Amino acid sequence: MADPSNEPASSSGVVEQVAATAAAAVVAAPLREEHDKPEDFHEPDKKRRRTVRAEDAAKTEQKLEHRLGGILCCAVCLDLPRAAVYQCANGHLMCAGCFTHVLADARLRDEMATCPNCRIEISKTTASRNLAVEKAVSELPAECQYCAKEFPRNSLEHHEEAMCEERISSCKYSRIGCPWRGPNHEIPEHESHCVHPHRTGADVMEALREIDARTLEERRLYDNVFDLLSYEKITFNDLQMKPYRTDEFIHKLFYETSRFGAFNNQWVVKARINSNQRDPTQSSERDITYQLILKTKTTYPLPVYYLILKGPFGDMKVHPRIHRFEFTEQENESPYFTLPLPDTAECNRLLAAKAISFR
Ligand SMILES: [Zn+2]
Ligand SMILES: [Zn+2]
Ligand SMILES: [Zn+2]
Ligand SMILES: [Zn+2]
Repeated sequence: MADPSNEPASSSGVVEQVAATAAAAVVAAPLREEHDKPEDFHEPDKKRRRTVRAEDAAKTEQKLEHRLGGILCCAVCLDLPRAAVYQCANGHLMCAGCFTHVLADARLRDEMATCPNCRIEISKTTASRNLAVEKAVSELPAECQYCAKEFPRNSLEHHEEAMCEERISSCKYSRIGCPWRGPNHEIPEHESHCVHPHRTGADVMEALREIDARTLEERRLYDNVFDLLSYEKITFNDLQMKPYRTDEFIHKLFYETSRFGAFNNQWVVKARINSNQRDPTQSSERDITYQLILKTKTTYPLPVYYLILKGPFGDMKVHPRIHRFEFTEQENESPYFTLPLPDTAECNRLLAAKAISFR
C-alpha cells in the first residue's frame, strides 16, 4: 500500500522490511512439495461422456491402450488426467481439476467434501496422489490436434509446439503486418512469395503503431509501480484470509484477514465468492472480489493505493492490479474489486485450501 499524504515517513523501516521478506522468501522456497510432475489444476475443457461408435467398438476392444484409458480416466469428468491424479481412501481416481472443484464446492456449501463415487470423506490430507496412474497415463497414446498421428502423452506437448509439420505458424514477417498463418511445412513456400518484405516504410507504419501501443500499455503498468515506490510512505503486509459464514438464513461464505497495521491505522481485507449470485455452487464459473476496510477512525481523508500480490508465503496466480480509494470518516470501506485470477480453476484451488495467503 502506498499513502501519498505528506506525513513524515520512516524510510529505514521499508528497507528493513524488504530485507526481511527477501530472507523469508529464500527460506520459504525449498518447503514446496516436490513431485515428479507439476500439479496442474486446470478444469477439464468439457465434462463429457465418452462415446464409442459402434463400428469402432470391435476394433477398440482389442486395443490395450483403449481399455486402460477407460480404467485410468478421472471418475468425474471421464477424461484422462493431464497431470496430477488424486484418489480417495477407496482408490477412486480424480484429475486435479475435478479434485479441487469437489473441495471448493464443499467449502462453498460448508460441508465435508466426499468422493463422487463412494461418498467417503475426502480432503487434502486423506486423498493422495497416485503416481503409478500418472505415469501410466503419460505413456498412453494421444492424437496430435494438427496431424492426427498418435504420440505418448508425455511427448505430445513438445510435438505439437515444436515438431509437428502441420502446426499452425505465422509468417516471419508478421511483425510488419503479414497476416498469413498456416501449416508449418508451408512456411518456406509462403515466405519466398511474401510481399511484406518489399513494402515501403510507410506501408508498415500501421503494424509498427500496433506494436508501439502494446508496448506502451505494458510500460504504463511498470511506470505506475515505480511511481508508487517513490511515495513517502509505502508498506506491505503478508496476510492470510480465512473462511467465515454470514449469519443470513442461507449462510454465505466470505473470507477475512485479521487486523493489520499500516500508516498508523488498522485495516482488514474481506473477500466474497461470486458476489452477484445467490448460490455460487450452481455455477461452474467462479470469481473472487475483495475490498479493503479501514478499522480505525480517521479525522482527515486518507487516499491509499493498494494491490494484491502473491507474496512469499502464498501461491496465488494473481495479475497485480493497482486500485485507489480515499478513506474518510464516513467511507471506511473500499468498493469490491475483482481479484484478477487467470481462470475458474485457480479460484477453485484457492477455495480448496484452508486459507488464502497473499501480500
Ligand atoms: Zn476430472
Ligand atoms: Zn471413492
Ligand atoms: Zn502433429
Ligand atoms: Zn508473409
